[in-house]
Amino acid sequence: MTTPTKPSELDAVAALYGNRFITQEVPSREFPDTGMTAVDAMRLVAEDLVIEGDPARNLATFVTTWMEPEAQRIIAENLHRNFIDHAEYPRTAEIEQRCIRMLADLFHAPGPTTGARTQGSSEAIMLGALSLKWNWRTRRQREGGSVERPNLVFGGDVHVVWEKFCRYFDVEPRIVPLQPGKYTIGPDDVAAHVDENTIGVAAVLGTTFTGHKDDVVGINNLLVQLKQERGLDVPLHIDGASGGFVWPFLYPDSPWDFRLEQVRSINVSGHKFGLVYPGIGWLVFRETADLAPDLVFEENYLGKTDSTFTLNFSTGSSMVLAQYYNFVRFGRQGYSYIMRNMEENARMLGDELEKMGRFELIDRYEEQLPLVAFRLTGEQDFDEFDLAWQLSAERGWMVPAYTLPPDAQDVTIMRALVKETMSREHVDTLARDIEEACRTLDAKGGAHESERAKIVTGPGH
Ligand SMILES: *Cc1c(COP(=O)(O)O)cnc(C)c1O
Repeated sequence: MTTPTKPSELDAVAALYGNRFITQEVPSREFPDTGMTAVDAMRLVAEDLVIEGDPARNLATFVTTWMEPEAQRIIAENLHRNFIDHAEYPRTAEIEQRCIRMLADLFHAPGPTTGARTQGSSEAIMLGALSLKWNWRTRRQREGGSVERPNLVFGGDVHVVWEKFCRYFDVEPRIVPLQPGKYTIGPDDVAAHVDENTIGVAAVLGTTFTGHKDDVVGINNLLVQLKQERGLDVPLHIDGASGGFVWPFLYPDSPWDFRLEQVRSINVSGHKFGLVYPGIGWLVFRETADLAPDLVFEENYLGKTDSTFTLNFSTGSSMVLAQYYNFVRFGRQGYSYIMRNMEENARMLGDELEKMGRFELIDRYEEQLPLVAFRLTGEQDFDEFDLAWQLSAERGWMVPAYTLPPDAQDVTIMRALVKETMSREHVDTLARDIEEACRTLDAKGGAHESERAKIVTGPGH
């Protein structure tokens, strides 16, 4: 038997029995001079991902990690359709409008209204907050007031995108701090920050930190009172990135949406509890008049007039179609069934954790996203960061540990999302694995410093 030595012979042998990246470095710095076969390229990419985290054990993310095969087929079959080409793909555009109308109905809009498909809640929030800013400016100019110093009021429990908006679009953030033991905000926190330069108040439905909601009803009532007593008409925007697809199904009688007078706009992530793969989000206005008209571009594109209100332009149609698939596939009944299952399994996991005697759950009897937020109690030789690391090292579960925003920064918690694919069996296994990880840590007394450096921090998204 001869051993090949020339590169061409080496390649021929590799093509026969495997691929050359088994023993060679992958292209990573320079733009490759030559390519490779399609099969090799496919294997190269796939092999890189084999050792990545397993999405099924990623309990840190709110984002969808599983869809039905039929939905996946819709997605795969429509990747070649550019969503923004409304003139060429009018049915796709119509399906987007159907989704917006259905969401407006789900969120109790009083009549026909408008909205937008976005890449996620971040884009929806940028657009919604821009509309708040433009509308505020129009109001101020009408009254002859200064338009120099707009501000936006929100709690420390919001997602980072709100601060990002303020910095990118030059608005003063008025951030209400949290307190130890109080991880959402209410009217008393907000009142002192609102004035004639407030473009709006943002409240969260289902925070990324503990899954609870701000006191939306209380904040709405405060703003109604301000309007009546001081003539200040301050709109309320609801960040329902996660909660917008949870509250209508788990807590249909708990008002947080357009049932409340000052709620003028809502964002929701289709790719979280809307149960679609990333990226899709939605922005819905209470009435068409709540969308600042100057933000809409009427353009003549490929011979047809089209109006757009987005920060992105080209993007795939697949996720819009997948969202519509879910709406017609599940309806209120199906979404309610899925959400209740998740809630029940979250309750089971919570019970198991409480039984261990080492943990306390954060406000578990309040309205909450289907997740378990917990922290260690009593004397332990290790902390939440140690446990997050140990659990991931032993069993591959991704359950993040993180500190809360100011002024609750001394509080560390852990959070496990309980999603559609997390079965009762998984819950029991996870609980056992958590108990075992605690026992390992009892024996060795916390993680080593070098291990702690690798711990995942931040609440994920
Ligand atoms: C996830 C999240 C966001 C950002 O949403 P994307 O869809 O990831 O852009 C904003 N706000 C809250 C409350 C979130 O949970």
